[in-house]
Amino acid sequence: MGTSVTKAKLETLRTLPGDDVRQIMWRFADRYDLQMLVQSTRDVARGLVARLVAGNARASHDWTPEKNELLEAYDKAGITAAFMEPEQGGFIAGPKNLALALIAYELAWVDAGAATGSLAGCLALSPIHERGTPEQRDKYMALCAPAQTGEDRKPWRGAFCLTEPIPYVGVDTGMLAGKVRVAEWKEGEEPVLQVEKRGRFITNMGFANFVTAAVDTDDPRIKSSCIVILEEGDPGTFDRGTPARKLVHQLSSTNDPIFNLKVPASRIVGGYTVKDGVIVPNYDHGEVIEAVFKRTRVTVAIMTSAKLLSAVEPVIRYQRGRFRGAEQTTPGTLRYELGIQQRQDALHRLAGLWAMGEAGVSLALAAARLFDELDPKEREKDAIFAERGIGGGRAAMKAYKEITKDTLEFLELEAKPENKRDNARLEQLRNDPLVQFKLLESVGNVICPGAKLWNTGNGNVAMREAVSLMGGYGITEDCPGFLGYKWMDAQLEATYEGPEAVQRRNLTVTMTDEVFLAQFKQWIAEMRDIAGRKPGTGACTLASAMKLWLWTYNYLQEGKDADGKVLYHGSRQGVTFPLADALGWILAARYQILDTIELEAKGPENPVVAEGIEGTVQFFTDLCHMQSARAAGEVSRICADLVYGFKRHPAWDDPNFAGCFQSEDLDTLEGLIPGIASCAADVIETTGAHPPKEGPCAGCSGLQEFVYLRMKLDTCLTGAMLAKDRAAEAVAKVMIPEALDYPRQ
Ligand SMILES: Cc1cc2nc3c(=O)[nH]c(=O)nc-3n(C[C@H](O)[C@H](O)[C@H](O)COP(=O)(O)OP(=O)(O)OC[C@H]3O[C@@H](n4cnc5c(N)ncnc54)[C@H](O)[C@@H]3O)c2cc1C
Repeated sequence: MGTSVTKAKLETLRTLPGDDVRQIMWRFADRYDLQMLVQSTRDVARGLVARLVAGNARASHDWTPEKNELLEAYDKAGITAAFMEPEQGGFIAGPKNLALALIAYELAWVDAGAATGSLAGCLALSPIHERGTPEQRDKYMALCAPAQTGEDRKPWRGAFCLTEPIPYVGVDTGMLAGKVRVAEWKEGEEPVLQVEKRGRFITNMGFANFVTAAVDTDDPRIKSSCIVILEEGDPGTFDRGTPARKLVHQLSSTNDPIFNLKVPASRIVGGYTVKDGVIVPNYDHGEVIEAVFKRTRVTVAIMTSAKLLSAVEPVIRYQRGRFRGAEQTTPGTLRYELGIQQRQDALHRLAGLWAMGEAGVSLALAAARLFDELDPKEREKDAIFAERGIGGGRAAMKAYKEITKDTLEFLELEAKPENKRDNARLEQLRNDPLVQFKLLESVGNVICPGAKLWNTGNGNVAMREAVSLMGGYGITEDCPGFLGYKWMDAQLEATYEGPEAVQRRNLTVTMTDEVFLAQFKQWIAEMRDIAGRKPGTGACTLASAMKLWLWTYNYLQEGKDADGKVLYHGSRQGVTFPLADALGWILAARYQILDTIELEAKGPENPVVAEGIEGTVQFFTDLCHMQSARAAGEVSRICADLVYGFKRHPAWDDPNFAGCFQSEDLDTLEGLIPGIASCAADVIETTGAHPPKEGPCAGCSGLQEFVYLRMKLDTCLTGAMLAKDRAAEAVAKVMIPEALDYPRQ
C-alpha cells in the first residue's frame, strides 16, 4: 500500500518571540527574581546605554563622566548586586550563573562593551568568590555591594589583571612576568609582600579601587605563583596607566596599569600556610584562574549571540521599508509592504542568522544553567575530598579515576533494560554525589569552551551578514540596532578571556573525557528519539552528524598519517582544533532543539504563549532544522578533511584505494563499496564506532563505514531547505512593532 503525502498549510510565527516564550525556552519561567532582573537590566540597556551609543560616547577611549554614569545605573538596577549573596548585599540566593548570563544578554542586545564593563566587576571578584577565604569573601563582597538605603558610601569597583605587556602572559597563562617577594617578615607577625605587576588591556582599570592580580614567586620563601588582591590605598605605586586605543567595546574602560605595592600576605587569594619558613599559597594562580574562567566565559559567549538576535527586528524593518519612497509604491502593494523581503535571498539570509543566534543563546544558557547545578555539587565534592584528606596532585587524580569508573558504570546500568540490570547498584550510584558531580562536570568542561568558541567565532561571521543585509547603512554609526558596532565588537568577544585558540585547546582535552563521550553517545540516542517524534526538528540530521563526529574522533585516536605519525595528539592542532570546531556546531544545534522541545511541551500551559503556540513552535522547529543541516554540513566537511586529508594520494589506478573513487558507476552504494549495505545496518547502527581492531566488521573496512555515515548524513538533509523556505516565509509575515524600542528617552 502506498503512502500519500498531503501538503497541509502550517501555522507560522505571528509576532516576534516575547518574554513569555523566552522564559519557557530558557527555563526561567518559575524564577520571578530573574524575570525582574531582566526587566531592570533591559531598562538600563535600552535607556542609558543606548543613549550613550547614539550620542557617540564610543568615540572616546577615555572613561568619561558620561560613561561613568553607567556604574550607578548598574547599581540601581540590581546588576551589581546580582553577583552577591543576600547576606553580602545581594538578592539572589544560590548560584548566579544564569542570572549573570541574562544580564549579559540584555546589555549586549544594545552594546557589548556595556555588558563587559558590568561583568568585569564580577570577574574581579570571581577569584575571591571561587577560591577566596571566608574573610576575603565577606570583606570584598560587602565593599562592592551597592549602598543600602540610609548608607553613605560609594561601592568599590574591581579589575582582574592577568594579561601582561608583550612578550608575557596572553594566551599562555603560565608566562608571568608579575612577581611577588617577601618585603618584610617580622617574627610572629604576618609577612608583608612586595608585588610588582604590569597589566595590558585591563578592563575597569580607569576607576577600579582594587585589583585581583596574577603574579609568580620571585622569592624562595614563597612556594608558588598566586593571585593577590591589590588596593588603591596600599603603599607604593597604583598607576592606572593609559587607556588602550581600542576600536571596540568603547563603553568599557580598558587601561595598561602598573603596580608596585606592599600588601599583607593575607591578600593572597585563598590564603596560605607556612611550612619550614616558606609561604605556601593554598592555590597557585593557574588553579584560581581555571575555576574562574570555567564559568565566566559563558557570559562572554552569550553576548555575540544576543547581538545576532537583536539584529532581526532592525533588519526586518529596514527590508520592509526599503522601497516605500517611489511614487508608484502605495500601501497594500507587495512592493510597499515587503520591500526587499520580496526577494528570497534576503529572507533566507536573515532566517539563517536568526537560527545562528538562537543556537548560540540556547548553548550559552544551557551552560549557565549547568553551572548553576554544578556549583553546589562541586562544593559537596570539595567537602568530601577534604573529609577524606584528598588534597591536590596524585591523591586527587586517583580519586578522580575512581569517580570516573563509577560514573561510567552508572551510565552503563542506566542504559540497560530494568529487568537486566542491578537496580540496587544503580540507585546507589544515582545517589552518589561524586557521580552526579562528575556527570555534570564532564559536560560543563566541554560546553563552556564550546560556547565561547562557537558563539563568538561563528557569531562574528554571522554578524557580518546582518550588517550586509542593511546595505550601506550597516556600516554607519546611524545604523538602527548599532549593527556595525556590534560586528566589530564581536571580535573582542572572540578574543578576551582567551581567544579561540585557548578554547580549542581546552576542548581538545575535555572532549576526550570518557564520561563526556559516554554521555555524547546517549545524546545521539536522544536525538534519534526526538527525530522519531518530531522529524522536522532536524534531530535526525544532527544525530547523523554526531555519529560521524564520534566515528572520526575514534578513527583519529587510533589512526596515523601517511608518515606513520599519530593523528590525535596535543601538538597536532591541525587535527584536534578542527574536531573541536565541529563539536561546537553540534553542541549549539543540540541545545537549540532541546529548547524548542521545551517550548512545545510547556508553551500550551501559559495562556499568553498558548495563543499562537502552534505557529511559534513550527517556526522554531524550522530554525532548528536549518541549523542542524548547516551544522551537519560543517561537521561532514571537517570530518572528511581529517579522515582523508592525512593520507597520501596514491596512483589514480590503484584499485585498493578506498578513499577516492574513479568508478563511473555511482548508481548504487553497493556497487561503489561492495558489502557496505549489509554492514551498515548491524555494525554502524549498534556501535556507531570504528570497528574493533581485532578484526574487520561484517562486510566493510573502516573507510567504507565512514563513507556510509557521510552518505547517510547527506540523505538526512531531506526537508532542510523546505524548512528554510517556511522560515523565510515567516520572516516576511511576522508582525513587528512600529519602531525600535531603543534608544529610549
Ligand atoms: C578590550 C580588552 C579587554 C581586556 N580585558 C582584560 C582584563 O580585564 N583582564 C585581563 O587579564 N586581560 C584582559 N584582556 C586581555 C585578553 O584576555 C587577551 O588579549 C587575550 O587573552 C589574548 O592574549 P594576547 O592578546 O596576548 O594574544 P596572544 O597570546 O599573542 O595570541 C594571539 C594569537 O596567537 C595565536 N596563539 C597564541 N597562542 C597559541 C597557542 N598556544 N596555540 C595556538 N595558537 C596560539 C592565536 O591565534 C591567538 O589568538 C583584554 C583584552 C582586550 C583587547
